[in-house]
Amino acid sequence: MRGLLPLFRGLHTVSNRQARRKAGIVGSRCGLCGTQSVNKPQPKFGLLFDIDGVLVRGRMLIPAAKLAVEKLVDSQGRFVVPVVFVTNAGNCLRQTKADQLSHILGVPITQDQVVMSHSPLRMFKKFHDKCVLVSGQGPVLEIAKNVGFKNVVSIDMVRESYPLLDMVDHNRRPKLPSTPVVSLPTVEAVILFGEPIRWETNLQLIIDILLTHGNLNSPHQTHAVPHLPLLACNMDLMWMAEANSPRFGHGTFLVCLENIYKKITGKDLKYDALMGKPSELTYHFAEYLIRSQAMQRQWKLPITSLYAIGDNLMTDIYGANMYNRFLEERAAIKNPKAVAQVVAATGSSTAMPGGEEEFDSMWESELALPSATSCKSILVCTGVYNPIAEVPSDASRSIKETVFHGHRDFRFDPALVEPNYIVQDVAEAVDLIFQQEKFVPAVCWARLLAVVVRVLGVVRGLAVVAVLRVVVRV
Ligand SMILES: [Mg+2]
Repeated sequence: MRGLLPLFRGLHTVSNRQARRKAGIVGSRCGLCGTQSVNKPQPKFGLLFDIDGVLVRGRMLIPAAKLAVEKLVDSQGRFVVPVVFVTNAGNCLRQTKADQLSHILGVPITQDQVVMSHSPLRMFKKFHDKCVLVSGQGPVLEIAKNVGFKNVVSIDMVRESYPLLDMVDHNRRPKLPSTPVVSLPTVEAVILFGEPIRWETNLQLIIDILLTHGNLNSPHQTHAVPHLPLLACNMDLMWMAEANSPRFGHGTFLVCLENIYKKITGKDLKYDALMGKPSELTYHFAEYLIRSQAMQRQWKLPITSLYAIGDNLMTDIYGANMYNRFLEERAAIKNPKAVAQVVAATGSSTAMPGGEEEFDSMWESELALPSATSCKSILVCTGVYNPIAEVPSDASRSIKETVFHGHRDFRFDPALVEPNYIVQDVAEAVDLIFQQEKFVPAVCWARLLAVVVRVLGVVRGLAVVAVLRVVVRV
């Protein structure tokens, strides 16, 4: 719980600051229609979209995603409801992912609409000044610094400094006897961003760091307990790209690391935090961004319902259902301090480190703000989940998982992998949500005028043709 205090204080502060600033600068007037957005239908709900398997597969746009976006934006390309894109990807910056989505979906998307698996790391201020080893691929050093870490060491830096450690690939072994070439500072924590490229190298060097307590000049100490703090983003065992079958995800890498550590030491590997879906912390962050969007757009109605659309039972559906369970408990309790205790007891936040202990007013006011009371899960069939038969009408009897693909530290609860709805694709999901919420996007007068003009043009054309026919006959 201590760890959540700076988290929510940070969110609250940023929320109000950004919302006030943007509310003052960004008007809600529709330039073409000249009408205030407050006069338009205002949403009481927000959407959380998974990306891979819902909007895209690899680099390919899923056709239904284009239709879904058309339903969700006005004539200026602005979303008519709060939308966040929640991905377990962690190999790029939020801005980079926002730019990719803007390009592929054809509408402007900001980084404030993106939650990546590593986004909550910015709240772990306790580690930001420590020397951390990062594992993953892509610009992990840049990402680590972007989320607040100041003293970062990569696997490549370790390998170059200690050339005798990475020996699995015979071709990468040093040809001549080597000694450490650059002395690295003692590593104080390990951050796992995502699956690396050379798994054997990362597995070997991470185990070395853990068993030497960060000092690679020392031999392994298999009895050392506890090991260095370990934080991991993205627990997906598999993910769906262009191939017919799912691909290994970071969760598979974690399975390897956990089993190697257990085999060597006889003890369980302990995580100080697990982030990304289905971690509850990720949904807290997403809900905050949705509320923030509503404030910026001057939508006055509180956001009471969330809908999470995904293709993965063990991440998207499990996470949404677990957050829904939390929301229901929160609604029942109606007490900020008790709520904080529930947060600490039910999710990844139990393992969050904390730097400040006081319960301040910002924390309480953040929880006291109008927020969601439910989070509905919607499963699409365009990604990891592949129904053998047609989409069944009774979802409650259709999902029977026989193998738990979730992370070791998450309990398998059959109720949490039951989606509230199953639809074919994301366009159907949007239709379903609008229907559930009885939400009809406002007809933009400019768009309506354009339709009228087009119709008049057709009518005029038909009239001209009719006149010409008469003339020809005469
Ligand atoms: Mg997915």
